[in-house]
Amino acid sequence: MKGPAAIALLGLFLLPGCVVTRPGADAGAEAAAERLSPEEVAASVLATMDRSVDPCQDFYQYACGGWLRDTKLPPDRPRLGRGFAAVEDRNRVVLRDILESAVRRRDEPGTAKLGDFYGACMDETLIERFDLRPLGPLFSEIDAVADSASLLRTVGHLHLIGIGALFVPAVEADFKDPDLTIAHMLQGGLGLPDRDYYLKEDEKSRTIRTQYEEHVSRMRALAGAPGEEAKREAAAVLAFETALAQASIPRTEARNPEKIYHRVDRPGLAAAADLPWDAYFEAIGFPAVQAMSVGMPGFFTAMAGEAKSAPPATLKAYLRWNVVRAMADSLPRPFAEEHFAFYGKTLGGQAEIEPRWKRCVDATDEALGDLLGKVFVERRFGGDSKPTAIAMIRGIEGALERTFPTLAWMDDATRARAAEKIKAVTNKIGYPDVLKDYAAMTVRRGDDFGNRLSAARDEFRREFSKVGGPVDRTEWNMTPPTVNAYYNPLQNEIVFPAGILQPPFFHRDFPRAMNYGGMGMAMGHELTHGFDDQGRKFDPQGKLREWWDPAVSARFQERAQCVESLYGGYEVEPGLRLNGAQTLGENIADLGGLKEAYHAYKAWEVEAGAPKPSVPGLSSDQLFFVGFAQTWCELITPEYARLLVGVDYHSPGKFRVRGAVSQSKEFAQAFACAEETPMNPASKCEVW
Ligand SMILES: [Zn+2]
Repeated sequence: MKGPAAIALLGLFLLPGCVVTRPGADAGAEAAAERLSPEEVAASVLATMDRSVDPCQDFYQYACGGWLRDTKLPPDRPRLGRGFAAVEDRNRVVLRDILESAVRRRDEPGTAKLGDFYGACMDETLIERFDLRPLGPLFSEIDAVADSASLLRTVGHLHLIGIGALFVPAVEADFKDPDLTIAHMLQGGLGLPDRDYYLKEDEKSRTIRTQYEEHVSRMRALAGAPGEEAKREAAAVLAFETALAQASIPRTEARNPEKIYHRVDRPGLAAAADLPWDAYFEAIGFPAVQAMSVGMPGFFTAMAGEAKSAPPATLKAYLRWNVVRAMADSLPRPFAEEHFAFYGKTLGGQAEIEPRWKRCVDATDEALGDLLGKVFVERRFGGDSKPTAIAMIRGIEGALERTFPTLAWMDDATRARAAEKIKAVTNKIGYPDVLKDYAAMTVRRGDDFGNRLSAARDEFRREFSKVGGPVDRTEWNMTPPTVNAYYNPLQNEIVFPAGILQPPFFHRDFPRAMNYGGMGMAMGHELTHGFDDQGRKFDPQGKLREWWDPAVSARFQERAQCVESLYGGYEVEPGLRLNGAQTLGENIADLGGLKEAYHAYKAWEVEAGAPKPSVPGLSSDQLFFVGFAQTWCELITPEYARLLVGVDYHSPGKFRVRGAVSQSKEFAQAFACAEETPMNPASKCEVW
């Protein structure tokens, strides 16, 4: 059940940042208060490395080889990032602790909702006893779909309660008027991860489509359809979704903000998609909404055509399928198991489903994130974490600004404006000043299905009530416990939740070189997003407009093309290359982030004096790059690697490391790499 509005646009556009990893369970994975001796830190760094490898041949293997050799992928994960997994798992244990105590002491004001939500999610006995009954009202509503008006009314109701279908309504700032909130109507409605899964004709893609159709059929059978009917419905669903996929624009195109912004009002929406929209907006509870953008007009035109021409039986099958898919975790166990068998195992190569408690912690974080986050922050984010993080970010901002005069492709006017944009960046650290209020959300003991709908409804209303009004610049798009970070071009802001700002990402006892290589690089990466191929199109106030001289833009494009070709040449699985265009923004951010963090570190050295080497055999500069690389060591199933190539905007860990260091002059110097070794090619891409 991927919820509402704002999040959808994130995936398409806002580029949730990179997850960074620090030395893992072997060092620094304990509570923030725990001290680490220099010997413990050094032992952890060295155990992770494989020093039999030449760093100039393959720096990823050199920095991560020990860890890759000694670590196994746990059966309930398709991917394990060193350190990241450790911190995420540890955060979840803290969250479970908070939630279990909320279940026990439900009379405590403030946490009663947390306890009731988590408790209901964990009560599998009750879920089994309810059997298919929670589906009854939704299926009856779907059964009554007879024409476009009843279809749109039902889709509106499903969107309101967090169930996707046909398209995606998102709420975000107007790209050209960043103080105004509007609705963004986006393409969507697919059950497979991307349009390519429906359209590609290779053997692998065809097999997945067959497996998908069988999965849809089994889910429908579980939800009560007789065998033959379930099969017919599944075939109809696949055909209908294929038509939506054909009308969808590719992911690489959707990264271009100009391509997904078409400001209209209601008549403009009706012109793009001739459907009875009043029924939809009444059903979501916002009949008067006017301010919107139709992200992909071509998709909406085609989607309206399909919706009007498809037989009612197909539409009903499609809607029922979307309900059971979204609600699988709140239905009897075979639903979750079948859901996992396709999405986890077949698509992701994951061996086992995650234990129930982990899924319930995640569901509670999604439903009541700020309430849960408040308790989390009290426990986990104290001391000088916030001022330390802010001081580091300021150092990185200074480092980027100082590189502008060295970039020959910029002109003075663009340099001055770019500096202005850096000065205007807002840094959000830890947790929001204003937490969400969940007073309007109904949470009942023992009603997992109902609670999830209720949480989605609450969030949808919170989002949509902003449409037509001012943008609230205090808001966050991630909950405080999230182990991640992002840059938002519409508000020119960097956001680092408390979840990522703790060991092992950053530790007060780590040598500075490591903190800058890890957390500092992540900060530089997010900042660079304001200047990547997408972020640079927004001005310091977050407005989409061309604020560069055309000649400078053209030179930027050339440099970006160099990065696109470099990463597009990397082979992820035999015969499968990385998509250089899809990952371009992230790769530009990696290259820039590493460079800015390095220079911020050197500036710190000038101020504080060069430290004594702290890891035997490594200079401080070398440790900076090893610290960076060791945040990206990862294990991944081949299936999941393949999935990510199709949908992820980030490159796999090993290419993030090899790509970034191979383009860094500072790296080549630190390791004295001969020219034309794999990690030191003579010609390098440089954007920032
Ligand atoms: Zn990023």
